[in-house]
Amino acid sequence: MTTQQHTFPEVESTLEQGLTDMSAYYLENHLRPNPGKTQICSFHLKNREAKRELDVTWAGIKLENHQHPVYLGVTLDRTLSYKAHIQKDEPRTVITKAERTKQAIDNRHLLHEHSAVRKRLGSRSSFLDTSEALETTPTDARTTEWQKQWNSLGSQAAQWKERGITPDECLATGHDQPWAVWKTLNRLRVGEGRCKASMKKWNITTSDACACGEPQTMEHLMNCTQAPQCTGDDLAEPTAAALA
Ligand SMILES: [Zn+2]
Repeated sequence: MTTQQHTFPEVESTLEQGLTDMSAYYLENHLRPNPGKTQICSFHLKNREAKRELDVTWAGIKLENHQHPVYLGVTLDRTLSYKAHIQKDEPRTVITKAERTKQAIDNRHLLHEHSAVRKRLGSRSSFLDTSEALETTPTDARTTEWQKQWNSLGSQAAQWKERGITPDECLATGHDQPWAVWKTLNRLRVGEGRCKASMKKWNITTSDACACGEPQTMEHLMNCTQAPQCTGDDLAEPTAAALA
């Protein structure tokens, strides 16, 4: 659903009205609205309002604002500059560069020794003049791009690198374990999975309480008093403590 207005309140009330109409339609057709999975975002050039979130509720639930929604595979951003999309797509640049390498050195390539024609539109650049040839193998280049991402994100990636899990194109440790064990290991490593806190967020349950009484987040699963304890170091190895 989209709307274009001059002010945020106008947008908010138009969207809410639309959603109210949708609710009636849902009810009539025995469909269930899912406000928990519905995201909203705004596109505008008012830098002063860059952080302004839309306040829209549907069926009593405030809808989640999303700064960079993905639509048909394209990561959108507030000003539609596609900067977010381009940054996310680093690995794709490796593929283009690999193609450029082939074009430059392989005489079987269709475009070997071909030079790019003068472009007619600013937005239509041939890959011949937007990319340079690779200096390493595509695998190495992909890993380097990946490594760059890991470093730039400032996320948990650094911790995992110290524990010996590095960006490469092999399966992470523990892949010789049964599938269920390996799956759980990876879910704990990345901190996403079916814990009670997530289930509450996904509107599957109403309570996030663990059997021990505390909120059951992914971190909690590792140090719950009623379950075997394990640390990030155990997960990386994985040790007997992590497999328990
Ligand atoms: Zn617990």
